[in-house]
Amino acid sequence: MAFQANGIEIELTRGDITQQDDIDAIVNAANAELRIGGGVAGAIHRAAGPELEAETAPLAPIKPGEAVMTSAPNLPNRHIIHCLGPVYGVDEPADTLLANCYRGALDLAEEAGLESVAFPAISTGAFGFPMERAAEVASRAVLAKTGELESVRRVRWVLFSDEDRMLHEGVFESIFNA
Ligand code: ADP
Repeated sequence: MAFQANGIEIELTRGDITQQDDIDAIVNAANAELRIGGGVAGAIHRAAGPELEAETAPLAPIKPGEAVMTSAPNLPNRHIIHCLGPVYGVDEPADTLLANCYRGALDLAEEAGLESVAFPAISTGAFGFPMERAAEVASRAVLAKTGELESVRRVRWVLFSDEDRMLHEGVFESIFNA
C-alpha cells in the first residue's frame, strides 16, 4: 500500500529490512551500544558483518531518540541509520522519544542528500512499544516532516508480518488520508 503526502511517497510493505535493495538508507532499531543484538539489530549486523561494528563502536553509546549514520557494509544500501527507540514504560516521554527517532533519521538522510529511507517498526519488538500506538506516532512524525523534505522522496515501512503490515495500513489510512 502507498500514500502521498506533500509529494513524498509513503510505502508499506511486509518484509525484511536487510532486503531493501532499492533504498538508499535502511534504519536499524538499534541498542544503545550499537552492537549486534536480537531483532532488527541482529539481522542488520549479521548481514553487514564485523565491519559494521568497527564503525558503530566509536559512535556509541547513543541515547533514546537519537540517530547516527554509518555506511552499509555488505548490504545493498548506501547507509544505515541507527536509531535508539524508547524502552516502553522506562524511557519517557515515550511518544516524543519515538518521534525523535523518525525525525532524526530523516534529518540525517536529508543532510546526506539521500532519496529513500526504509524504517522497521522501531521499539515494537524487544522494547515493548504497543504496535498501534507506535504506528500512530511514527506516521504523524513523518507526515509532519514531509513538507520540509527536499532530497528524500520515498519513505518505506518494512513490517515483519502481514498482521503488523495490516495494522499499519489501517493507522496510516487514518493519518495520511485525514
Ligand atoms: P526494538 O528493540 O526497537 O523493539 P526489535 O528489533 O526488537 O527492536 O523489533 C522492532 C520491530 O522490528 C518488531 O516489530 C520486529 O517484529 C521487527 N523485526 C524484527 N526483525 C526484523 C527484520 N529483519 N526486518 C524488519 N523488521 C523486523
